[in-house]
Amino acid sequence: MTTTPHRPRITDRLDRPFRDLRVSVTDRCNFRCPYCMPAEIYGDRYQFLPRDDLLAFEEIARLACVMANLGAAKIRLTGGEPLVRNDVEKLVAMLAALPGVEDLAMTTNGYLLPQKAAALRDAGLGRLSISLDSLDDEVFRKMNGRGFDVGKVLDGISAAEKAGFSPIKINAVVQRGVNDHTIVEMARYFKERGHVMRFIEYMDVGTRNGWKLDHVTPADEIIARIHAEMPLEPAESGYRGEVASRYRYRDGGGEIGVIASVTRPFCGDCTRLRLSPEGRLVTCLFSALGTDLRGPLRAGASDDALERLIRGVWSDRGDRYSEERASATERREKVEMYHIGG
Ligand code: SAM
Ligand code: SF4
Ligand code: SF4
Repeated sequence: MTTTPHRPRITDRLDRPFRDLRVSVTDRCNFRCPYCMPAEIYGDRYQFLPRDDLLAFEEIARLACVMANLGAAKIRLTGGEPLVRNDVEKLVAMLAALPGVEDLAMTTNGYLLPQKAAALRDAGLGRLSISLDSLDDEVFRKMNGRGFDVGKVLDGISAAEKAGFSPIKINAVVQRGVNDHTIVEMARYFKERGHVMRFIEYMDVGTRNGWKLDHVTPADEIIARIHAEMPLEPAESGYRGEVASRYRYRDGGGEIGVIASVTRPFCGDCTRLRLSPEGRLVTCLFSALGTDLRGPLRAGASDDALERLIRGVWSDRGDRYSEERASATERREKVEMYHIGG
């Protein structure tokens, strides 16, 4: 990966710079986490996007190249489950070769990592975040909606370690009454193995998970529970746009983070754009449809024209949903999490 010396700074209506791109490579997934893709809605007959509607790898790479020129130094691949997209490592290799991309990462549920970790590393993937909501089999079976045991994901984590990913981030969504009683055990387990836990407040993304505020375990409570067993102190943020509040263990044994989108919104530092599997550019995780890029791309738009379009989307954005959540009254259309990838 190479660095461009003259990266333009484009800012939006709230003076936020564009820095990060999240690419959702598929709307399909091998899990059915009830907070994201409830199995009763996403059953056997659910119509996912047809293959031709998905952006081809070349199309994703072309848009990513334009966006890297506009400031996206970080790219994260997500989904749905990115590892169910065939040959996703080929896309990794194409993105790793783009000038200006300094950090290339992926968020995955880890299930397919035993088959894929080495190929991803060889293709140039820099970092991995692996989602795992609990180390308790009974809890985890419910939370992945498919009855898979924790061992499946732990095998994926081992494969990632063997392939040379280090440290690995482990993401857990915390839901009150579902897995909040297992967070200290998780923090301890991954502290001992040198990985970084990120606890995510359960968010009201999409419209299909039946979210209620009292299902959220606030970040302060998560931190207090872990601190009571393994003392913590706040750590400084690494860069503008970092979504996690970080804490380090006082005994020097690494750090953890909390992503507190509900109780400590961070919209003022939101530096991200999201590209959906069918080529829509979405600014906020809580937006509706986004702006179609696939149409112009397939109609032969030049790089300059695509750049103008994307620049326009960024310059126009003024969304800050999490900061307005408490005062929002109307029910609104929102993109689903599995579609846009977080
Ligand atoms: N399938 C991959 C995975 O689960 O890691 C990538 C896509 S998934 C949508 C990205 C992240 O969003 C995961 O860490 C997942 O736990 C998180 N997530 C999904 N729905 C959420 C919700 N309602 N609130 C908070 N986080 C959520
Ligand atoms: Fe799939 Fe990830 Fe959503 Fe779970 S959180 S259903 S693994 S996309
Ligand atoms: Fe960014 Fe929207 Fe999340 Fe705020 S709510 S941090 S604007 S994605």
